[in-house]
Amino acid sequence: MRTYIKSYWLAPEFKMRSMPTIPCKLLFSNILTKTFLCFLTTLFAISCTSREKAILVFSKTSGFRHGSIEAGISALQKIGIENDLKVTITEDARYFVEDSLQQYATVLFLNTTGDILNDVQQADFERYIQAGGGFVGVHAAADTEYDWPWYNKLVGAVFDGHPKVQEATLQIADYDHLSTTSLDSTWIKSDEWYNFRSINPDINILIKIDEDSYEGGTNGENHPISWFHEYDGGRAFYTEMGHTDDTFKNPKFLAHLKGGIQYAMGNGTGL
Ligand SMILES: [Zn+2]
Repeated sequence: MRTYIKSYWLAPEFKMRSMPTIPCKLLFSNILTKTFLCFLTTLFAISCTSREKAILVFSKTSGFRHGSIEAGISALQKIGIENDLKVTITEDARYFVEDSLQQYATVLFLNTTGDILNDVQQADFERYIQAGGGFVGVHAAADTEYDWPWYNKLVGAVFDGHPKVQEATLQIADYDHLSTTSLDSTWIKSDEWYNFRSINPDINILIKIDEDSYEGGTNGENHPISWFHEYDGGRAFYTEMGHTDDTFKNPKFLAHLKGGIQYAMGNGTGL
C-alpha cells in the first residue's frame, strides 16, 4: 500500500523518479547539471499538467441502464472541450489497473449499476483513491456494487428506491463549494429523486431536497441530494441528479457537475 499523500501530483513514486539522489557538490557545479535540473522541472510540469487535466468517465452497467448515459457523455465531453480537460469515455473495466488509473486526476462513475468491477479491479481502485485520487459519482453510482462496503462509503450512501420522475424543491445547504457557489438558495427541478440508506455520517451535505415539495421521499428533513467528503486518502463528490436527458442540458446542473469534478481533481485552481 502506498503512503497517503494528499496532493496527487506529489505521489511518492513520481518523486522517486524525478528526484534522484545527486551529491550536493554536483548540484550547482556546472551548467550541465543545471540543464539537467531544468529538464527534470520541465518533465515534472508536463506530468502534472497531463494528470491534472484528465478524467476517466466510466458508465458500465450490469443492472438497469439509463437512457441518459449518452446525454451525460455528451455533457462531459462539452465540459472537457470548454475547459481543456482530457475526457476518456469507457465501459471497459480493464482500465481499473493501478498504472492506468494513475493517469487520471478523477474517475467519474456515470450512471453505473450493479456489479461492474472484479476483486482485483476493486483493489486497484482502492489504491488509486488511497494515493490521493478523485471520485465523482453521478446518480446511479449509488445503485452500484452493493457488496463492496468500501465503495458504498466512498459514494456516501446506497440507493434505496425512488418515486416517479417529478419536480421538487432543492435547498442549497452549503455555498462554500465549487459545485454550489453559482446556485441560488432554492432550485426547483425535475428528476428522479432517490431515497438513500447507509448514509455515511462523514459526508458534507451540499444540497438537500424538501420532501414536502414532492411525493415519495422517505429520508425525512435531512434528505441529501449532493455531497462531498475526503475518504481514505482521496476526495469524493456525489450528485443524485442525472436520470433524465434534460438534466445534462441544464446549465445549473452542468455548473454543479463541473464544480464537483473540479473539487475531485483537487487542484483548487479551477478547470
Ligand atoms: Zn434513474
